[in-house]
Amino acid sequence: MVLTGAGISTESGIPDFRSPGGIWTKYDPEEFTYQNFVANRAHRERYWKMSLDIHPVLAAAEPNAAHHAVAELERRGRVCAVITQNIDGLHQRAGSSPERVIEIHGTALSVLCLSCGDRLPREDVQARVQAGEAAPECRSCGGILKPATVSFGQAMPERETALAFEHAERAEVFLVIGSSLVVHPAAYLPVRAVESGAKLIIVNLEPTPCDRLATVRLRGKAGETMSALVAAIGP
Ligand code: NAD
Repeated sequence: MVLTGAGISTESGIPDFRSPGGIWTKYDPEEFTYQNFVANRAHRERYWKMSLDIHPVLAAAEPNAAHHAVAELERRGRVCAVITQNIDGLHQRAGSSPERVIEIHGTALSVLCLSCGDRLPREDVQARVQAGEAAPECRSCGGILKPATVSFGQAMPERETALAFEHAERAEVFLVIGSSLVVHPAAYLPVRAVESGAKLIIVNLEPTPCDRLATVRLRGKAGETMSALVAAIGP
């Protein structure tokens, strides 16, 4: 089983949250909570304004060698599930089977109506924002439209979270790529896996709180490290 965080996508040009130059060095995370988004139109307008800055980067990103390595491991029958904290859809674009990718923080590629549950392609709604709609509303029911990502203060999706823990408990090997392992409950998944008997491998640029539990720690860039790892395992 594979768990990925923002660090697997930095080589695709998407900044992570916590490294220097990361997203939260530019914006205040305290402001962009689910509660603010729902409660107040001015907050929604600021959110969509921020999206004009951030979304084009996400939309233009291509999968990198690490995403391709994960897809290759699946083709070789070595991957049961890819649990990702990322919202960028790059695992699926690299060839990981959509049914094996579990997006525990949702996806930025869809938008949901918080009233009628309608799901719309992000590109369509983003085009409306670009054309001047400051806080777009559902055209069917007038409800609030929100990207299908899990915001600060928003409940985790129940099905995806339960599935992630089930996979962690069944994993033989639990491979973490590019996560600081400080955001819960994702950060608890490697602990649960090790408690259930899995070997833990961590690929990350810097130390994580789970390093002491890991059988193997590979300190390096996700792209080159994962390419070397796939080459070393063989077919
Ligand atoms: P994080 O920002 O907390 O940590 C990223 C980790 O990756 C850091 O420890 C960093 O040292 C490491 N890293 C950075 N570049 C790397 C590289 N090239 N190779 C290997 N390691 C690298 O991210 P997180 O743990 O995913 O948790 C924070 C939240 O960020 C998640 O909720 C996630 O949804 C969100 N996020 C997602 C995206 C995305 O979808 N691409 C981008 C930014 C943030």
